[in-house]
Amino acid sequence: MPELPEVETIRRYLNLSIVNERIQKLEVLWAGSVVKAEPADVYNLKNQKINSIARKGKYLLFQLEDFDMVVHLRMTGQIYLNPQNPLEDHIRWVLYLQNGDKLYYRDVRKFGRLFLALKSQGARLSGLDKLGPEPWEITLEYWQDKLKSNRSIKLLLLDQRVISGIGNIYADEALFLAKIHPETKGKDLSSKQAAELLVAVRTVLDLGMRFGGTSFRDYVSGDGKKGNMQEKLLVYQKDGQLCPRCTKHIEKIKVGGRSSHFCPICQLKPRR
Ligand SMILES: [Zn+2]
Repeated sequence: MPELPEVETIRRYLNLSIVNERIQKLEVLWAGSVVKAEPADVYNLKNQKINSIARKGKYLLFQLEDFDMVVHLRMTGQIYLNPQNPLEDHIRWVLYLQNGDKLYYRDVRKFGRLFLALKSQGARLSGLDKLGPEPWEITLEYWQDKLKSNRSIKLLLLDQRVISGIGNIYADEALFLAKIHPETKGKDLSSKQAAELLVAVRTVLDLGMRFGGTSFRDYVSGDGKKGNMQEKLLVYQKDGQLCPRCTKHIEKIKVGGRSSHFCPICQLKPRR
């Protein structure tokens, strides 16, 4: 699933490519991919200018003159601007621009959604308004307060209401950097550990953006290219391989149903 660095990479590409362009039409090929709030509808979009493309957490927000178009890629959503090779299957919608550009949305599993609402109402319709702060907006005070919880730190990192944008890949990488076992309860982290974890989160997300995101299967960056972050990962999906720090083997366990990769020596299990 695309996480913050992947969605931000797409946003940056689209921001350079299609901002200030006007929409010709939105063609919907699978109706289930679009959620509308009346009176906003697909036919309203003709001649609308794309004023900007923002991101919050894992959501993309196309700010049009009179409407919001919010896109969440979920599991397998992909965005292609003017693909060089024709896309043959799993296309759910196509945004045609007046300059001839075509923005394709492809989604094999069909979990992704496009939310269409009047201007400033897209956040509520899409659930974007429920998101916690971005990792760079968080104060240490807020962070320590949110960690006062019986839930495991792994699940707290994945909770989009606590901190937005982190998924399984970057959660595992951040916990490894901060030397914290994924099953550690939030309330058992020292203030030093909490501070180090916040730094680690920002570090892995920055790295992810620098390398254009992580591409295991589905993610592409808008121009059809894959990212390179998968080559920089230290523990995610490395179970059975040697820890880059201590040379023990990386293990995989389930934490709250989510697979978690960690080093049993560098990330000691909390004693209790
Ligand atoms: Zn280790």
